[in-house]
Amino acid sequence: MPFLQALESYPALLIMTVSLIALAVGSFLNVVIHRLPKMLERQWRAESAALHGAAPAAEPRYNLVVPRSQCPACGYQLSALENIPLVSFIALGGKCRNCKAKIPLRYPAVEALTALLSGYIAWRYGYSWQTLAALFYAWILIAAAFIDLDTFYLPDNLTLPLLWLGLLINLNGTFIDLSSAVIGAGAGYLALWSVFWAFKFATGKEGMGYGDFKLLAAIGAWLGWKMLPAVILIASLVGAVIGIALIVFARRGRDVPIPFGPYLVLAGLIAMFWGNTLVDYYLRAL
Ligand SMILES: [Zn+2]
Repeated sequence: MPFLQALESYPALLIMTVSLIALAVGSFLNVVIHRLPKMLERQWRAESAALHGAAPAAEPRYNLVVPRSQCPACGYQLSALENIPLVSFIALGGKCRNCKAKIPLRYPAVEALTALLSGYIAWRYGYSWQTLAALFYAWILIAAAFIDLDTFYLPDNLTLPLLWLGLLINLNGTFIDLSSAVIGAGAGYLALWSVFWAFKFATGKEGMGYGDFKLLAAIGAWLGWKMLPAVILIASLVGAVIGIALIVFARRGRDVPIPFGPYLVLAGLIAMFWGNTLVDYYLRAL
């Protein structure tokens, strides 16, 4: 296959191709971020109705494919051209063509973020299985972070496949040896689970959710147990800085909850790319 050979020979072509594909993936991630929580809610409603012996309410089909994307303000259905990531946002001046309602900046931002991160991964790992694996890692993490930001909920549909995928990927030591990965998954879950119960015991409050434990378990499965202290440290530091900034600058109340998932995601990405350097650095510092 000459195109694959070209990708292998020309890093710039690989980075460009991956970034372009990632732009489309980012557009799909927007759909996942928007719809997955709603799909789960519907499922729970139906299950709850079934449990109470009621017939489930008839609702129109709603999944990641159906219905087609539409303007949230006026329901105008987007044409194929208007579905092109980033480009259509710029061409439309960030407004719905039909009702001129503003399109949230979040959509192109998620697309751009996905493309940039994916391009970096292609540059970083080159033409390899590591690139392919790291792309899925980053994409699932992006979706999880934004869903947690919106709903304070990390769906099992994302964290559990990420965990299994991490263990499978490391069967032949793609990022870390398999035993480090398995221990990483267990230790990741246990670490936050213990913090959760210690915090609850001490204060009577719940500081995070079970989704956070599963997310850290998944990161442990990908990067191994040795990376977990770094991940928790980075997530807590960034969380503290942003939390204080929000209280000081945005005058947010001290009691407004902030989801921990996005910080874990950020830390999980930093640890994948620069974790070894960081771990070396702090081991030498000790
Ligand atoms: Zn509209």
